[in-house]
Amino acid sequence: MVVPSPCQACGVAGGTDWVKVAGLGVLVHNARGRERCPVALPFDWETGKPLTSLAGAVAA
Ligand SMILES: [Zn+2]
Repeated sequence: MVVPSPCQACGVAGGTDWVKVAGLGVLVHNARGRERCPVALPFDWETGKPLTSLAGAVAA
């Protein structure tokens, strides 16, 4: 049995996943209806490079 680890960005319990949204990898909380983590910075899905701010992700 795998115990989900808390969110590495904000500490919410219940596990997290990286999902692809509009070309970006964003962190979602599994225990909260896969809501997007408000703290974790997304990364560019194609290049794997993290974004430097949330501004671009909000626009996407
Ligand atoms: Zn989080």
